[in-house]
Amino acid sequence: MSPNSFISFTVTVLLSLTILLANPESQESSEPDTPVTRFQNYLRIKTAHPNPDYASAVSYLNSQAQSIGLQSRTFQFTPNKPLLLLTWPGSDPTLPSLLLNSHLDSVPAEPSKWAHPPFAAHRTPGGDIFARGAQDDKCIAIQYLEAIRNLKASNFNPIRTVHVSYVPDEEIGGMDGAAKFAVSEEFKELKVGFVLDEGQANPGDEFRVFYADRTPWNLIVKAKGMPGHGSRMFDNSAMENLMKSIELMTRFRETQFDEVKAGNAVNSEVISVNPVYLKSGIVSGDGFAMNMQPSEAEAGFNIRIPPTVDPDLVKKRIAEEWAPEARNLTYQLIENGPTRDYMGRPLMTPTDDSNPWWSVFKQAIAAAGGKLAKPEILASTTDARFMRQQGIPTLGFSPMTNTPILLHEHDEFLKDTIFLKGIKIYESIISALSSFEGGTQ
Ligand SMILES: [Zn+2]
Repeated sequence: MSPNSFISFTVTVLLSLTILLANPESQESSEPDTPVTRFQNYLRIKTAHPNPDYASAVSYLNSQAQSIGLQSRTFQFTPNKPLLLLTWPGSDPTLPSLLLNSHLDSVPAEPSKWAHPPFAAHRTPGGDIFARGAQDDKCIAIQYLEAIRNLKASNFNPIRTVHVSYVPDEEIGGMDGAAKFAVSEEFKELKVGFVLDEGQANPGDEFRVFYADRTPWNLIVKAKGMPGHGSRMFDNSAMENLMKSIELMTRFRETQFDEVKAGNAVNSEVISVNPVYLKSGIVSGDGFAMNMQPSEAEAGFNIRIPPTVDPDLVKKRIAEEWAPEARNLTYQLIENGPTRDYMGRPLMTPTDDSNPWWSVFKQAIAAAGGKLAKPEILASTTDARFMRQQGIPTLGFSPMTNTPILLHEHDEFLKDTIFLKGIKIYESIISALSSFEGGTQ
């Protein structure tokens, strides 16, 4: 290549680069700006643990809020863990407000096990959008905004103020996110009367709705006893004492599981007790000393308490039957979250006429052509428990019908038509709840 042709080559390359960069057809910006592409863009922000990019998520949501004309505030209840609050003021600020909540973070994904990259938000020709967070719960995050965008465009004006919150850390327990938000002065000032939080998909054609979560407890039982030769039979060895506990807990577990197997209850309505680890033995070389009975033994259990159960009765059972001092046992019970609200009531949102919000919610779903399934207790937990602890009626709801339940699984996806239908459902819910004037003081 001569120097001249090199220069002309360089100029050509630079020119074509410039054209390429300036040409919207050739870049991502060529994507039409629609509710579905806005959902895809949000899914592409990597908010998966252990290093969720909260800043980019908040900045993206803020740009959406600006385009819709919503007020925006960012709180840092914990440094580097922003919480975004958007507000659509109602005409009567004396009425309790409506809060729509979702979490910014998601669980990690193993790209090699996915059919499509988990942060590409690839949309198949059939309309399935594959991404971590597609169901849990970035769909509702964008649906809330799109529903408000449409309502505003139709000149709808809410009577009650509508708030939309985007909270960090739900997937790791919410202690630095919704837990701090719910007890803050800033939260009190919002005068929240009713909360909608995330729910779950349904493979069938009814919308699922959740009125309570189960509370997770971790129980560690430790046994002590006289050590002894492997050949000796004697009472109260550490292993024997721990094994008695395990037997009693296994029997209790069976009584609960039998109810599920017999069809008298669903999983989330019973107390689940599952052993998660066993630790004992005298380590020797690559294995254990087989001629020694150890002086210490330990077991860990994951327990889930439905709100219909008195937690004090379970605690009594732990102290008296499962880990009594009389058998040389000690225990540690770690309660991950509340079991009662600030008034001492179970963390359950009524789904009958005693809750005026319920009737309005139910009618709004029907008005949008949807069918509600029988209200359920969620088998796991969400941030909703922190709102319920403040005595605020809170329902878990993600409008996903005819969708396999894929939260936290490989190949999480949501179909575009289901996503778009969800926006219509929220338009109906938000307009009904925000124009509802009675009976919630
Ligand atoms: Zn979630």
